[in-house]
Amino acid sequence: MGSLQDRQIAIIGGGVAGLTAALALSRRGARVTLHERAPAITEVGAGLQLSPNAMRVLDALGLGPELARISLRSHAVELRNMQGARVLRLDMLAHRPNAEFRLIHRARLIDCLAGAVQAAGVTLRLGSDIQTPPEADLTIGADGLRSRMRQILNGREAPFFTHQTAWRTVIPDRDATPCAQVFMGPGRHLVSYPLAGGLRNIVAVMERNAWQEEGWSHQDDPANLRAAFADFRGPVPHWLDAVEQVHIWGLFRHEVARNWQNGHLVLIGDAAHPTLPFMAQGAVMAIEDAWHLAACLDAIPDQPQALSRFEASRRDRTTRIVAAANANARNYHLTGLRRLIGHSALRLADRLAPKLALSRFDWLYDHDPTSEEP
Ligand SMILES: Cc1cc2nc3c(=O)[nH]c(=O)nc-3n(C[C@H](O)[C@H](O)[C@H](O)COP(=O)(O)OP(=O)(O)OC[C@H]3O[C@@H](n4cnc5c(N)ncnc54)[C@H](O)[C@@H]3O)c2cc1C
Repeated sequence: MGSLQDRQIAIIGGGVAGLTAALALSRRGARVTLHERAPAITEVGAGLQLSPNAMRVLDALGLGPELARISLRSHAVELRNMQGARVLRLDMLAHRPNAEFRLIHRARLIDCLAGAVQAAGVTLRLGSDIQTPPEADLTIGADGLRSRMRQILNGREAPFFTHQTAWRTVIPDRDATPCAQVFMGPGRHLVSYPLAGGLRNIVAVMERNAWQEEGWSHQDDPANLRAAFADFRGPVPHWLDAVEQVHIWGLFRHEVARNWQNGHLVLIGDAAHPTLPFMAQGAVMAIEDAWHLAACLDAIPDQPQALSRFEASRRDRTTRIVAAANANARNYHLTGLRRLIGHSALRLADRLAPKLALSRFDWLYDHDPTSEEP
């Protein structure tokens, strides 16, 4: 029996981080109460890419078969220029035949996690807005981008606006070609992939000076999205014609938290290391965190030592991922000569060294949290 047996743990936040942690901890015998300030566990209508490093955790938690039913397996990532011509194809399936990249609607992932959490006996407190750690052996701050728990450990911090505005939308689409496509233009890019159930997820990002608030719930007129990407070709005009509802938000750069824990309060997910979305790793890191935290707490009886080990095992990796996402923001939006040179280099890699391009991210996708000793 591990050290987590009967430990009282409070989790603040019922997003991907909080729900995965609740499941991982309760499976190891902890008594978990999860506080979510919203009146119900829900998610916005948008897609998520889950890379193999997260899928290994979700599999180990027994969710693999259910996820296979409600998501699509992605075979590749294709980089295309704004005319729609291929620049580079990363054939993930050929490179890692035994690893799974999955494309899933957020709401379906959350439903799947929430169902498992309830079956595992976690106490859910909905409509519970927590401002100070409640009575418990340990409190986990999984309270997202504007984390109150992070503020307790780090004081007030000021993220800065990147002058990038993003739109997200989901459209009906029968084309389920299992691949994520990125269309790159000067100062703009658009990412799209299919979702199970005849849907397609679209995220479009544009550099512009106009201020835009951070947050998921601001609606915009679809005509603005169509106008911003009016000169994009390939399937893009057809997709954008189908948009009926779109949300808009500003992308902000946040630092990885200076302090992650103090021996009885610890941060995971976006609360610890918010990231720009350009590596599709925010939820994935949250899932990795949840597993590592449960493993450290179970293996190391002394809680402050376990939390130090957790922080030490996660800080460098998450910092590297956040930096890679920042770099992608630049690479996707190249202009002028840089764009010409950059795209030519990628095309050359596509023809001459596709394996090399794929191997660049082995450190990221080959990581297996479930086989690592705490
Ligand atoms: C456009 C876009 C695309 C993305 N695509 C991907 C992708 O493809 N793959 C990927 O891995 N990641 C992706 N991400 C990132 C991912 O969405 C986030 O990193 C992830 O959802 C973070 O999960 P979390 O549980 O840490 O935080 P959240 O999902 O924000 O959950 C925090 C929860 O805490 C609750 N809460 C907050 N404060 C309190 C309080 N005081 N008391 C109680 N409850 C509270 C909130 O209501 C919320 O439910 C994307 C992000 C964006 C913006």
